[in-house]
Amino acid sequence: MSDEERKILVVGGGISGMTVALEAAEAGADAVIVERNPYLGGRVASLNQYFPKLCPPSCGLEINFRRIKQNPKIKFHTLAEVESIAGSAGDYQVTVRVHPRYVNDNCTACGKCEEVCSTEVPDAVNYGMSKVKAAYLPHAMAFPFKYVLAPEIIGTEEAKKCQEACAYSAIDLEMKPQTITYKVGAVVWATGWEPYDATRIDYLGLGRIPNVLTSVMFERMAAANGPTGGKIERPSDGKEVKSVAFVQCAGSRDENHLAYCSGICCLASLKQATYVRDQIPDSKAYIYYIDVRAMGRYEDFYTRVDADESVVLTKCKIARISEDKETGGVLVEGEDISGGSMVKQVVDLAVLAVGMVPGTATVKPGLEMEYDDFGFVTAPGASGIIPAGCVKAPMEVAASVQDSTAAALRAIQVTVRR
Ligand SMILES: Cc1cc2nc3c(=O)[nH]c(=O)nc-3n(C[C@H](O)[C@H](O)[C@H](O)COP(=O)(O)OP(=O)(O)OC[C@H]3O[C@@H](n4cnc5c(N)ncnc54)[C@H](O)[C@@H]3O)c2cc1C
Ligand code: SF4
Ligand code: SF4
Repeated sequence: MSDEERKILVVGGGISGMTVALEAAEAGADAVIVERNPYLGGRVASLNQYFPKLCPPSCGLEINFRRIKQNPKIKFHTLAEVESIAGSAGDYQVTVRVHPRYVNDNCTACGKCEEVCSTEVPDAVNYGMSKVKAAYLPHAMAFPFKYVLAPEIIGTEEAKKCQEACAYSAIDLEMKPQTITYKVGAVVWATGWEPYDATRIDYLGLGRIPNVLTSVMFERMAAANGPTGGKIERPSDGKEVKSVAFVQCAGSRDENHLAYCSGICCLASLKQATYVRDQIPDSKAYIYYIDVRAMGRYEDFYTRVDADESVVLTKCKIARISEDKETGGVLVEGEDISGGSMVKQVVDLAVLAVGMVPGTATVKPGLEMEYDDFGFVTAPGASGIIPAGCVKAPMEVAASVQDSTAAALRAIQVTVRR
């Protein structure tokens, strides 16, 4: 069997894709990761803390980054996407397009290029809540720990200024897109999830009311390396937040948006309530839920958070969020499903627990796979491409790792059975 046939190509370098590559490589296969972002780690890299232990995601990610660095059997491309796939299980030809980073491996992340750069671009990691210089490190624990030049400044004097500031000859403005073709035995699709676009739920006010954020934005706001340096504040005026309403099922379990339960957003809001309570002792967190989904070992986490009297859980579907002119905060309204009364609560900030949309809802592999109505992969189909992680169902990190370990085994079997 040739090296190519034993090789596995993994699309997506989040926790799922990294796990597939690591488990496969540690069992002797060669693995190539193709990641769209300029860094590995996926959405987990932008979390503040992990439930249920509430440790920073750097714990888990750094171990994986080290394992990848130390394993010569793993190769990865960032800023890369699959252009085409042909063939079948055991014998695929995959064409990968690698976009230029304009920064080479000499980069020491010294930051001199950033200092001289004046153009700013939206910070994708912070979901547009802040800007970064056009010469930037994607985030504080980025892997690879290398700067990137935004394409917006290529061809301008600004780019030349950045290049001149670099003492390590790390900026290469002549870098061009590259096309690489791999012959591999198995392909694993681990492109994860996107937050549902909650601006489509008009009555919740996202995008219209400054003090309404999504859960993924709030995760960044609470992070020390986020747009406010970790301070939980009202976006409208920077005031310290004393009360937060977490609005569950924002888009999920709703025929007009996502008809399914996104599985993890109850746990995410319980976790985020602890961010508020830990940072601001005299704060209150209100969680408005239809049902609390905290299955198996997560029940303990739910019980622990619920024990705090300043975390108030109410069974209520929020029907409207509007600005509260008097306080500068927001008014959340709905019907208390257990008590029958109307809920009208003024808070400083509302956080929408947005649903998870699979990456495969928008970008599908070039070969056939089977999907449900929402774009989650249900089976590899005729293509034999193996799905892993959140492209199959909404899941938390532990479940993603388990699923991806199984996917690695399946991928090895495909390459061996040929
Ligand atoms: C608000 C919130 C808080 C959360 N908090 C927790 C928590 O505390 N604990 C926990 O266990 N889980 C938590 N989760 C869930 C966690 O984020 C997921 O379990 C995890 O991200 C799944 O990893 P993944 O690799 O499957 O997907 P992702 O993290 O989405 O990674 C997918 C990767 O694929 C890349 N990609 C996408 N499309 C392409 C393409 N076409 N080509 C190449 N690359 C591509 C992406 O850039 C990304 O790097 C939370 C989720 C939310 C919404
Ligand atoms: S590209 Fe050069 S100047 Fe910019 S961070 Fe890297 S080494 Fe420093
Ligand atoms: S996990 Fe909770 S908030 Fe998320 S969709 Fe399911 S019930 Fe709603």
